[in-house]
Amino acid sequence: MAVLLKGKPVTERMAQELAPRIETLRAAGVEPTLAIVRMGERPDDLSYERTAIKRAESLGVTVKPYVLDEFAPQEALHATLQSVNLDAGVHGCLMFRPLPSFIDEKAMCNALSPDKDVDGISLASLAAVFTDASEGFPPCTAAACVRMLDHYEVPLAGKHVVVVGRSLVVGKPVSMMLLRRNASVTICHSKTEHLEKICRSADIVICATGRARAFGAECFSPGQTVLDVGINFDTHGNLCGDVNFDEVEPVVGAITPVPGGIGTVTTSMTMAHTVAAAQAAAEAMRR
Ligand code: NAP
Repeated sequence: MAVLLKGKPVTERMAQELAPRIETLRAAGVEPTLAIVRMGERPDDLSYERTAIKRAESLGVTVKPYVLDEFAPQEALHATLQSVNLDAGVHGCLMFRPLPSFIDEKAMCNALSPDKDVDGISLASLAAVFTDASEGFPPCTAAACVRMLDHYEVPLAGKHVVVVGRSLVVGKPVSMMLLRRNASVTICHSKTEHLEKICRSADIVICATGRARAFGAECFSPGQTVLDVGINFDTHGNLCGDVNFDEVEPVVGAITPVPGGIGTVTTSMTMAHTVAAAQAAAEAMRR
């Protein structure tokens, strides 16, 4: 039986750490505030928004939704992001993606000020992840993976981590963050040959491909730690990860469940970044 790396103990610890920081900010008249920018009413955006609002409320972070019509022109979204940038009462911003196809998503990600880019979507934030600079924040999911490993005291230095997936949201940034922690990282993708063998050779495997239960027992070996980042629906409409949990859990040493794993820590990471952004803004005001 593998150790179950649940997200809840991690988010509880994060809440304990955030509470005094939020209290200090509020006592100084600063209400840590997260803007959520959404275009249209996509069910997965709405669901994530509800989760984020609930988590924010439980921590004492205020959420300010900015909702645009799904056919709103790019100028309207740009103006919204500008007003977020200029609003001293907003400290962080989460923009739901993918944006509609007629919008230049890269340009909109870069329109957000790195100070408020709590999900690492701007080039400046991403560049910081790759160059070990301190600007902006890393993408929340990548940061959640590292936090999960740290919480459960999984050693990183000198260990072989295989990351499957090379997106800018998860695969690439988490690889860089683990490299910074002295892990030896192999990044795999859809063209990788001998993927199963490479995965079996790792100490830690991070699956972030978006393919429901695609990683079976043949991809793993005893003692490994497995982070399942995937959020997918199977053919019956059930929520599941990239890993075939029932097959893999008896094989490996430790594994995150879906739901209740990386996803829940990601939401708390958004709040942690927002609080850090509020603290930085308050500090800048004092100077
Ligand atoms: P993405 O942009 O679609 O990237 C998927 C990656 O998986 C790509 O690099 C792709 O390779 C690789 N891939 C696809 N098929 C593969 C295969 N057969 N073998 C090996 N690699 C393969 O997805 P994403 O945004 O990174 O998200 C990945 C998953 O994480 C999704 O299920 C998403 O819902 C989930 N997610 C979860 C959270 C959370 O908070 N838990 C947050 C964000 C995303 P190529 O580059 O070669 O195409």
